[in-house]
Amino acid sequence: MANEKILVVEDEKSLSGVLRYNLEKSGYRVIVCEDGPAGLRCARQERPDLLLLDVMLPGLDGFEVLRQLRRSHAMPVLMLTAKGTETDRVAGLKGGADDYMSKPFSVAELLARVEALLRRARPGPAPRRVRDIERIGDVEMDRDRREVRVSGRRVLLGASELEAFGLLVEADGKLVEDSALARVLGGACGKDLEEALDGIRRELGREGARITGAPGGYRLRLD
Ligand code: CA
Repeated sequence: MANEKILVVEDEKSLSGVLRYNLEKSGYRVIVCEDGPAGLRCARQERPDLLLLDVMLPGLDGFEVLRQLRRSHAMPVLMLTAKGTETDRVAGLKGGADDYMSKPFSVAELLARVEALLRRARPGPAPRRVRDIERIGDVEMDRDRREVRVSGRRVLLGASELEAFGLLVEADGKLVEDSALARVLGGACGKDLEEALDGIRRELGREGARITGAPGGYRLRLD
C-alpha cells in the first residue's frame, strides 16, 4: 500500500539515514526522531502506521516509550536493539512490541518484516462470499440452500434432521454428544434419538453408514 507512514526513533544518525533512504525508496513516508521523548510525542501526534523503535535512546529508552504508547496506541512496533540478549527480546515482546531485530541487521530483512507487519495491520478486504458447501465422500451439505445431496441427488431431510446432520458435519469427525443432537431433534433421547438418526441414515442411502454411534454420542466417518 503506497504512502504508509513510518516513524523511526533512532539516535544513531548513520542508521536512521540508511533506514530513511531505504524506506522512502520502498514508497513509505518516513519521520525520524532522535530521542525517546520526541519519539513518544511524534508517535502520538503523527499516528504513524508503524514504529521502528530503538531500545537505547536518550531521554526515555525504547521500552519506556513503548510502555507509555501502548496505553493508547495499537500501531505495529518493530524494536531495534544492539542488545541481542534473550531477556531484552522477551521484555520487548511483553511490552507490546510486534517484532524485534538485533543490530546489525540486514536492511532487506528489515524491509520484509516492516511489510509483513503492515500487511497484518491493514484492514483486510471484505471476505469474498463463497458458497458454503461441505463435501464428505459423495455427500454434499449446502448450507446456503439448506440442503443435503448424495451424488447430486437431493436428500429429503426435515429442518431438525438437517440441523442434526449439520452438527455432525461441523464436528468434522469428532463426537457430537447425544444431548446436543437431542436439543435439535426435539428432545429425543435414548431409542428415540437412535430412531431419528436412523431416519437420517436411511435418507442418505449407502452414505448413511457414515453416521456411527459412539459412547455418549455420534460421529461422522469422514474417510
Ligand atoms: Ca541507540
